[in-house]
Amino acid sequence: MAAEHDQGFELFRLSGVTVAIDYSWLVIFALVLWVLSAGYFPQQYPGFPMSSYWIVGLIATLLFFASVLIHELSHAWVANRMGESVTRITLFIFGGMAHLAGEPETPAIELKVAGVGPLTSLVLAALFWGVQQAIPAAPGLILWRAIFRYLAFINLALALFNLLPGFPLDGGRLLRAIIWRRTGSLTKATSQAANWGQGIAFGVIGLGALEIFGGDLIGGLWLIFIGFFLRSAALASYQHLFVDQMLGNLRLADTMVTNPVTLPPDMPVTEAVEKYFLHLGFGGFPVTDDGQVLGLLSLSQVSGCPAQERSTRRVRDIMRPLDGKIVIPASATVAQALHQMAEADAGRLLVMDGSRLAGIITRSGIARLVQLRIALGAGGDPGDRLTGISNVENHPGVPSGADLAR
Ligand SMILES: [Zn+2]
Repeated sequence: MAAEHDQGFELFRLSGVTVAIDYSWLVIFALVLWVLSAGYFPQQYPGFPMSSYWIVGLIATLLFFASVLIHELSHAWVANRMGESVTRITLFIFGGMAHLAGEPETPAIELKVAGVGPLTSLVLAALFWGVQQAIPAAPGLILWRAIFRYLAFINLALALFNLLPGFPLDGGRLLRAIIWRRTGSLTKATSQAANWGQGIAFGVIGLGALEIFGGDLIGGLWLIFIGFFLRSAALASYQHLFVDQMLGNLRLADTMVTNPVTLPPDMPVTEAVEKYFLHLGFGGFPVTDDGQVLGLLSLSQVSGCPAQERSTRRVRDIMRPLDGKIVIPASATVAQALHQMAEADAGRLLVMDGSRLAGIITRSGIARLVQLRIALGAGGDPGDRLTGISNVENHPGVPSGADLAR
Protein backbone atom coordinates (compact mmCIF):
# COMPACT_ATOMS: atom_id res chain seq x y z
CA MET A 1 0.00 0.00 0.00
CA ALA A 2 2.35 2.71 1.11
CA ALA A 3 5.53 2.99 -0.85
CA GLU A 4 4.17 1.58 -4.07
CA HIS A 5 6.46 -0.34 -6.32
CA ASP A 6 9.13 0.97 -8.61
CA GLN A 7 9.20 4.48 -7.23
CA GLY A 8 12.91 4.34 -6.71
CA PHE A 9 16.02 2.49 -7.75
CA GLU A 10 17.54 -0.92 -7.23
CA LEU A 11 20.63 -1.17 -5.06
CA PHE A 12 21.84 -4.74 -5.43
CA ARG A 13 20.75 -8.37 -5.50
CA LEU A 14 21.65 -10.86 -2.78
CA SER A 15 20.85 -14.55 -3.25
CA GLY A 16 17.70 -13.91 -5.22
CA VAL A 17 16.48 -10.90 -3.24
CA THR A 18 16.52 -7.48 -4.90
CA VAL A 19 17.19 -4.62 -2.51
CA ALA A 20 15.57 -1.40 -3.69
CA ILE A 21 15.39 2.12 -2.35
CA ASP A 22 12.21 4.16 -2.56
CA TYR A 23 12.78 7.86 -3.23
CA SER A 24 11.09 8.70 0.07
CA TRP A 25 14.00 6.98 1.80
CA LEU A 26 16.38 9.74 0.72
CA VAL A 27 14.37 12.16 2.87
CA ILE A 28 14.78 10.08 5.99
CA PHE A 29 18.45 9.41 5.24
CA ALA A 30 19.12 13.16 5.06
CA LEU A 31 17.06 13.80 8.19
CA VAL A 32 18.84 11.15 10.28
CA LEU A 33 22.23 12.34 9.04
CA TRP A 34 21.38 15.92 9.96
CA VAL A 35 19.89 15.10 13.36
CA LEU A 36 22.93 12.98 14.30
CA SER A 37 25.64 15.28 12.92
CA ALA A 38 24.20 18.64 13.90
CA GLY A 39 22.23 17.62 16.99
CA TYR A 40 22.87 14.38 18.80
CA PHE A 41 26.67 13.99 18.60
CA PRO A 42 27.61 17.68 19.21
CA GLN A 43 25.22 17.84 22.17
CA GLN A 44 26.27 14.57 23.77
CA TYR A 45 29.99 14.82 23.02
CA PRO A 46 30.95 18.51 22.82
CA GLY A 47 34.39 19.87 21.97
CA PHE A 48 35.15 18.36 18.57
CA PRO A 49 35.39 20.15 15.20
CA MET A 50 32.21 20.25 13.13
CA SER A 51 33.75 18.07 10.39
CA SER A 52 34.29 15.24 12.90
CA TYR A 53 30.60 15.25 13.79
CA TRP A 54 29.60 14.97 10.15
CA ILE A 55 31.99 12.08 9.49
CA VAL A 56 30.79 10.27 12.60
CA GLY A 57 27.19 11.14 11.72
CA LEU A 58 27.58 9.70 8.23
CA ILE A 59 29.11 6.45 9.50
CA ALA A 60 26.39 6.08 12.14
CA THR A 61 23.63 6.81 9.60
CA LEU A 62 25.00 4.29 7.10
CA LEU A 63 25.33 1.61 9.78
CA PHE A 64 21.84 2.41 11.08
CA PHE A 65 20.32 1.81 7.66
CA ALA A 66 22.51 -1.26 7.20
CA SER A 67 20.95 -2.52 10.45
CA VAL A 68 17.44 -1.92 9.08
CA LEU A 69 18.43 -3.77 5.91
CA ILE A 70 19.83 -6.73 7.86
CA HIS A 71 16.56 -6.86 9.83
CA GLU A 72 14.63 -7.07 6.53
CA LEU A 73 17.05 -9.56 5.01
CA SER A 74 16.53 -11.82 8.03
CA HIS A 75 12.77 -11.85 7.32
CA ALA A 76 13.42 -12.60 3.66
CA TRP A 77 15.96 -15.29 4.42
CA VAL A 78 13.74 -17.20 6.86
CA ALA A 79 10.68 -16.78 4.62
CA ASN A 80 12.52 -18.18 1.64
CA ARG A 81 13.83 -21.08 3.69
CA MET A 82 10.27 -21.84 4.82
CA GLY A 83 9.14 -22.10 1.23
CA GLU A 84 7.53 -18.66 1.08
CA SER A 85 8.75 -16.28 -1.56
CA VAL A 86 10.42 -12.94 -0.92
CA THR A 87 12.22 -11.55 -3.92
CA ARG A 88 12.28 -7.88 -3.04
CA ILE A 89 13.10 -5.62 -0.10
CA THR A 90 12.37 -1.91 -0.25
CA LEU A 91 13.78 0.73 2.03
CA PHE A 92 11.38 3.65 2.35
CA ILE A 93 10.68 6.60 4.61
CA PHE A 94 9.45 4.56 7.60
CA GLY A 95 12.09 1.88 7.40
CA GLY A 96 12.03 -1.22 5.29
CA MET A 97 9.70 -3.87 4.02
CA ALA A 98 10.09 -7.34 2.66
CA HIS A 99 7.56 -8.11 -0.06
CA LEU A 100 5.89 -11.43 0.69
CA ALA A 101 4.37 -13.18 -2.29
CA GLY A 102 1.44 -14.49 -0.24
CA GLU A 103 0.17 -15.08 3.25
CA PRO A 104 2.19 -17.60 5.26
CA GLU A 105 0.93 -21.15 5.03
CA THR A 106 0.89 -22.00 8.74
CA PRO A 107 1.02 -20.12 12.07
CA ALA A 108 4.40 -21.74 12.75
CA ILE A 109 5.88 -20.21 9.59
CA GLU A 110 4.41 -16.82 10.44
CA LEU A 111 5.93 -17.02 13.94
CA LYS A 112 9.39 -17.72 12.56
CA VAL A 113 9.30 -15.21 9.71
CA ALA A 114 7.97 -12.39 11.92
CA GLY A 115 10.03 -13.28 14.99
CA VAL A 116 13.42 -13.38 13.33
CA GLY A 117 13.37 -9.62 12.59
CA PRO A 118 13.26 -8.30 16.17
CA LEU A 119 15.59 -11.12 17.20
CA THR A 120 18.12 -10.00 14.59
CA SER A 121 17.88 -6.41 15.83
CA LEU A 122 18.49 -7.59 19.39
CA VAL A 123 21.56 -9.54 18.29
CA LEU A 124 22.83 -6.47 16.41
CA ALA A 125 22.26 -4.34 19.52
CA ALA A 126 24.34 -6.76 21.59
CA LEU A 127 27.07 -6.85 18.93
CA PHE A 128 27.32 -3.07 18.71
CA TRP A 129 27.33 -2.83 22.48
CA GLY A 130 30.19 -5.33 22.55
CA VAL A 131 32.17 -3.29 20.00
CA GLN A 132 31.59 -0.16 22.07
CA GLN A 133 32.90 -1.90 25.18
CA ALA A 134 35.92 -3.20 23.29
CA ILE A 135 37.06 0.26 22.19
CA PRO A 136 39.43 1.75 24.82
CA ALA A 137 38.04 4.79 26.63
CA ALA A 138 40.79 7.06 25.31
CA PRO A 139 39.95 10.71 24.54
CA GLY A 140 40.74 10.25 20.83
CA LEU A 141 38.28 7.38 20.57
CA ILE A 142 35.30 8.96 22.28
CA LEU A 143 33.39 9.57 19.05
CA TRP A 144 34.03 6.01 17.84
CA ARG A 145 32.59 4.66 21.05
CA ALA A 146 29.68 7.07 20.59
CA ILE A 147 28.82 5.62 17.17
CA PHE A 148 28.53 2.07 18.45
CA ARG A 149 26.74 3.12 21.61
CA TYR A 150 24.14 4.88 19.45
CA LEU A 151 23.84 1.86 17.15
CA ALA A 152 23.32 -0.47 20.11
CA PHE A 153 20.46 1.70 21.40
CA ILE A 154 18.86 2.26 18.01
CA ASN A 155 18.81 -1.48 17.30
CA LEU A 156 17.31 -2.17 20.71
CA ALA A 157 14.66 0.47 19.98
CA LEU A 158 14.07 -1.06 16.55
CA ALA A 159 13.47 -4.47 18.13
CA LEU A 160 11.14 -3.13 20.81
CA PHE A 161 9.11 -0.88 18.51
CA ASN A 162 8.59 -3.67 16.00
CA LEU A 163 7.50 -6.00 18.79
CA LEU A 164 4.45 -3.81 19.55
CA PRO A 165 1.53 -6.21 19.06
CA GLY A 166 -0.27 -4.37 16.25
CA PHE A 167 -0.55 -5.71 12.72
CA PRO A 168 1.32 -5.17 10.40
CA LEU A 169 4.27 -4.70 12.77
CA ASP A 170 6.29 -7.84 13.52
CA GLY A 171 4.70 -8.02 16.97
CA GLY A 172 1.26 -7.84 15.36
CA ARG A 173 2.23 -10.71 13.09
CA LEU A 174 3.33 -12.73 16.10
CA LEU A 175 -0.01 -11.95 17.74
CA ARG A 176 -1.81 -12.98 14.57
CA ALA A 177 0.11 -16.27 14.45
CA ILE A 178 -0.84 -17.02 18.07
CA ILE A 179 -4.54 -16.24 17.52
CA TRP A 180 -4.46 -18.15 14.26
CA ARG A 181 -3.00 -21.20 15.98
CA ARG A 182 -5.56 -20.99 18.78
CA THR A 183 -8.68 -20.39 16.68
CA GLY A 184 -7.61 -22.08 13.46
CA SER A 185 -8.91 -19.05 11.56
CA LEU A 186 -6.53 -16.77 9.70
CA THR A 187 -9.39 -14.40 8.91
CA LYS A 188 -10.30 -13.95 12.56
CA ALA A 189 -6.65 -13.66 13.56
CA THR A 190 -5.95 -10.98 10.96
CA SER A 191 -8.93 -8.91 11.94
CA GLN A 192 -8.04 -9.03 15.65
CA ALA A 193 -4.37 -8.25 15.04
CA ALA A 194 -5.37 -5.37 12.76
CA ASN A 195 -7.65 -4.07 15.54
CA TRP A 196 -4.66 -4.00 17.85
CA GLY A 197 -2.70 -2.31 15.09
CA GLN A 198 -5.26 0.50 14.95
CA GLY A 199 -5.22 0.89 18.73
CA ILE A 200 -1.44 1.09 18.79
CA ALA A 201 -1.48 3.57 15.92
CA PHE A 202 -3.74 5.87 17.94
CA GLY A 203 -1.45 5.42 20.94
CA VAL A 204 1.57 6.46 18.86
CA ILE A 205 -0.33 9.49 17.51
CA GLY A 206 -1.32 10.48 21.05
CA LEU A 207 2.27 10.12 22.22
CA GLY A 208 3.36 12.37 19.36
CA ALA A 209 0.84 15.02 20.40
CA LEU A 210 2.15 14.86 23.98
CA GLU A 211 5.72 15.32 22.72
CA ILE A 212 4.68 18.40 20.77
CA PHE A 213 3.06 19.87 23.90
CA GLY A 214 6.25 18.96 25.74
CA GLY A 215 8.22 21.12 23.31
CA ASP A 216 9.64 18.47 20.97
CA LEU A 217 8.03 19.48 17.69
CA ILE A 218 10.05 17.34 15.26
CA GLY A 219 9.99 14.23 17.44
CA GLY A 220 6.26 14.63 18.00
CA LEU A 221 5.44 15.19 14.35
CA TRP A 222 7.51 12.17 13.41
CA LEU A 223 5.58 9.97 15.84
CA ILE A 224 2.31 11.31 14.43
CA PHE A 225 3.42 10.45 10.88
CA ILE A 226 4.35 6.95 11.97
CA GLY A 227 1.00 6.61 13.76
CA PHE A 228 -0.94 7.59 10.65
CA PHE A 229 1.12 5.24 8.55
CA LEU A 230 0.44 2.38 10.95
CA ARG A 231 -3.25 3.19 10.99
CA SER A 232 -3.58 3.18 7.22
CA ALA A 233 -1.62 -0.06 7.05
CA ALA A 234 -3.91 -1.68 9.63
CA LEU A 235 -7.00 -0.35 7.82
CA ALA A 236 -5.72 -1.63 4.50
CA SER A 237 -5.27 -5.12 5.88
CA TYR A 238 -8.94 -4.97 6.93
CA GLN A 239 -9.93 -3.96 3.44
CA HIS A 240 -7.92 -6.74 1.89
CA LEU A 241 -9.52 -9.15 4.27
CA PHE A 242 -12.91 -7.84 3.24
CA VAL A 243 -12.20 -8.09 -0.47
CA ASP A 244 -10.82 -11.57 0.06
CA GLN A 245 -13.96 -12.62 1.85
CA MET A 246 -16.02 -11.26 -0.99
CA LEU A 247 -13.94 -12.99 -3.61
CA GLY A 248 -13.41 -16.15 -1.66
CA ASN A 249 -11.63 -18.69 -3.76
CA LEU A 250 -13.07 -17.55 -7.05
CA ARG A 251 -11.01 -18.79 -9.95
CA LEU A 252 -10.22 -16.74 -13.01
CA ALA A 253 -11.74 -19.42 -15.19
CA ASP A 254 -15.14 -18.53 -13.69
CA THR A 255 -14.83 -14.76 -13.80
CA MET A 256 -12.71 -13.75 -16.80
CA VAL A 257 -14.02 -12.33 -20.03
CA THR A 258 -13.72 -15.13 -22.57
CA ASN A 259 -13.16 -14.58 -26.28
CA PRO A 260 -11.90 -11.02 -25.87
CA VAL A 261 -11.67 -8.76 -28.91
CA THR A 262 -8.09 -8.87 -30.17
CA LEU A 263 -5.99 -6.40 -32.12
CA PRO A 264 -3.91 -7.28 -35.20
CA PRO A 265 -0.26 -6.27 -34.68
CA ASP A 266 0.20 -4.40 -37.95
CA MET A 267 -2.77 -2.07 -37.64
CA PRO A 268 -1.78 1.63 -37.44
CA VAL A 269 -2.32 3.11 -33.98
CA THR A 270 -4.81 5.70 -35.30
CA GLU A 271 -7.01 2.95 -36.68
CA ALA A 272 -6.80 0.98 -33.42
CA VAL A 273 -7.86 4.09 -31.49
CA GLU A 274 -10.87 4.78 -33.71
CA LYS A 275 -12.09 1.28 -34.44
CA TYR A 276 -11.29 -0.34 -31.11
CA PHE A 277 -10.67 1.97 -28.16
CA LEU A 278 -13.26 4.65 -29.06
CA HIS A 279 -15.74 2.32 -30.70
CA LEU A 280 -15.78 -0.50 -28.15
CA GLY A 281 -14.90 1.51 -25.05
CA PHE A 282 -12.45 -1.01 -23.55
CA GLY A 283 -9.24 0.09 -21.87
CA GLY A 284 -7.02 -2.47 -23.54
CA PHE A 285 -6.81 -5.35 -26.00
CA PRO A 286 -4.68 -8.46 -26.43
CA VAL A 287 -2.58 -8.29 -29.59
CA THR A 288 -2.66 -11.54 -31.54
CA ASP A 289 -1.40 -12.76 -34.86
CA ASP A 290 -2.88 -15.97 -36.23
CA GLY A 291 -4.02 -17.01 -32.78
CA GLN A 292 -0.55 -16.36 -31.36
CA VAL A 293 -0.52 -13.86 -28.47
CA LEU A 294 2.12 -11.17 -28.95
CA GLY A 295 1.30 -8.66 -26.22
CA LEU A 296 -1.18 -6.24 -24.74
CA LEU A 297 -2.10 -2.74 -25.86
CA SER A 298 -3.62 -0.54 -23.17
CA LEU A 299 -4.75 3.07 -23.12
CA SER A 300 -1.62 4.04 -21.20
CA GLN A 301 0.62 2.95 -24.09
CA VAL A 302 -1.59 4.71 -26.62
CA SER A 303 -1.57 7.95 -24.67
CA GLY A 304 2.19 7.62 -24.31
CA CYS A 305 2.49 7.71 -28.10
CA PRO A 306 2.52 11.30 -29.46
CA ALA A 307 -0.57 12.11 -31.57
CA GLN A 308 1.47 12.96 -34.69
CA GLU A 309 3.17 9.55 -34.59
CA ARG A 310 -0.01 7.52 -34.28
CA SER A 311 -0.63 7.33 -38.04
CA THR A 312 2.84 6.00 -38.82
CA ARG A 313 3.35 3.66 -35.87
CA ARG A 314 1.77 0.26 -35.63
CA VAL A 315 0.17 -1.58 -32.76
CA ARG A 316 3.18 -3.90 -32.36
CA ASP A 317 5.53 -0.89 -32.03
CA ILE A 318 3.93 0.45 -28.88
CA MET A 319 2.26 -2.59 -27.26
CA ARG A 320 3.53 -4.15 -24.04
CA PRO A 321 5.22 -7.32 -25.30
CA LEU A 322 4.23 -10.61 -23.77
CA ASP A 323 6.07 -11.31 -20.53
CA GLY A 324 5.46 -13.23 -17.32
CA LYS A 325 4.07 -10.16 -15.58
CA ILE A 326 1.00 -9.64 -17.76
CA VAL A 327 0.16 -13.32 -18.16
CA ILE A 328 -1.66 -15.46 -15.59
CA PRO A 329 -2.88 -19.06 -15.77
CA ALA A 330 -6.64 -19.69 -15.81
CA SER A 331 -6.31 -21.82 -12.67
CA ALA A 332 -5.18 -18.82 -10.57
CA THR A 333 -7.55 -17.12 -8.12
CA VAL A 334 -8.98 -13.63 -8.54
CA ALA A 335 -7.03 -12.52 -5.48
CA GLN A 336 -3.80 -13.68 -7.08
CA ALA A 337 -4.70 -11.74 -10.22
CA LEU A 338 -5.21 -8.55 -8.17
CA HIS A 339 -1.83 -9.02 -6.56
CA GLN A 340 -0.15 -9.54 -9.90
CA MET A 341 -1.82 -6.43 -11.34
CA ALA A 342 -0.38 -4.39 -8.51
CA GLU A 343 3.06 -5.88 -9.04
CA ALA A 344 2.98 -5.39 -12.81
CA ASP A 345 1.31 -1.98 -12.53
CA ALA A 346 -1.25 -3.18 -15.08
CA GLY A 347 -5.02 -2.78 -15.09
CA ARG A 348 -5.58 -6.03 -16.97
CA LEU A 349 -3.96 -9.41 -17.41
CA LEU A 350 -4.04 -11.98 -20.17
CA VAL A 351 -5.44 -15.26 -18.89
CA MET A 352 -3.67 -18.15 -20.57
CA ASP A 353 -4.50 -21.78 -20.91
CA GLY A 354 -1.08 -23.11 -21.78
CA SER A 355 -0.01 -21.04 -24.77
CA ARG A 356 -3.60 -20.31 -25.80
CA LEU A 357 -5.33 -17.04 -24.89
CA ALA A 358 -8.27 -18.08 -22.69
CA GLY A 359 -9.54 -14.65 -21.74
CA ILE A 360 -8.80 -11.36 -20.10
CA ILE A 361 -9.32 -10.12 -16.53
CA THR A 362 -9.49 -6.45 -15.60
CA ARG A 363 -9.29 -4.59 -12.31
CA SER A 364 -12.55 -2.78 -13.03
CA GLY A 365 -14.18 -6.11 -13.83
CA ILE A 366 -13.12 -7.44 -10.43
CA ALA A 367 -14.37 -4.26 -8.73
CA ARG A 368 -17.78 -4.76 -10.39
CA LEU A 369 -17.80 -8.35 -9.22
CA VAL A 370 -17.15 -7.27 -5.63
CA GLN A 371 -19.96 -4.69 -5.85
CA LEU A 372 -22.30 -7.28 -7.26
CA ARG A 373 -21.51 -9.73 -4.50
CA ILE A 374 -22.06 -7.07 -1.84
CA ALA A 375 -25.40 -6.10 -3.42
CA LEU A 376 -26.49 -9.72 -3.57
CA GLY A 377 -25.23 -10.43 -0.07
CA ALA A 378 -23.04 -13.23 -1.30
CA GLY A 379 -20.08 -13.28 0.98
CA GLY A 380 -18.51 -16.05 -0.96
CA ASP A 381 -16.79 -18.72 0.97
CA PRO A 382 -14.32 -16.92 3.16
CA GLY A 383 -12.87 -20.17 4.41
CA ASP A 384 -9.44 -19.55 5.65
CA ARG A 385 -7.56 -19.28 2.46
CA LEU A 386 -6.82 -15.64 2.83
CA THR A 387 -4.60 -15.32 -0.19
CA GLY A 388 -4.00 -11.65 0.47
CA ILE A 389 -3.94 -9.11 -2.27
CA SER A 390 -1.54 -6.71 -0.72
CA ASN A 391 1.04 -9.36 -0.01
CA VAL A 392 3.31 -6.63 1.10
CA GLU A 393 4.72 -6.61 4.53
CA ASN A 394 4.69 -3.02 5.56
CA HIS A 395 6.53 -2.51 8.64
CA PRO A 396 8.12 0.62 9.81
CA GLY A 397 11.62 -0.02 10.90
CA VAL A 398 12.31 3.43 12.27
CA PRO A 399 11.78 3.10 15.99
CA SER A 400 10.27 6.40 17.03
CA GLY A 401 10.49 10.08 16.53
CA ALA A 402 12.13 10.45 19.88
CA ASP A 403 15.17 8.42 18.86
CA LEU A 404 15.60 10.38 15.70
CA ALA A 405 14.94 13.82 17.01
CA ARG A 406 17.14 13.82 20.05
ZN1 LIG B 1 10.50 -6.76 10.89
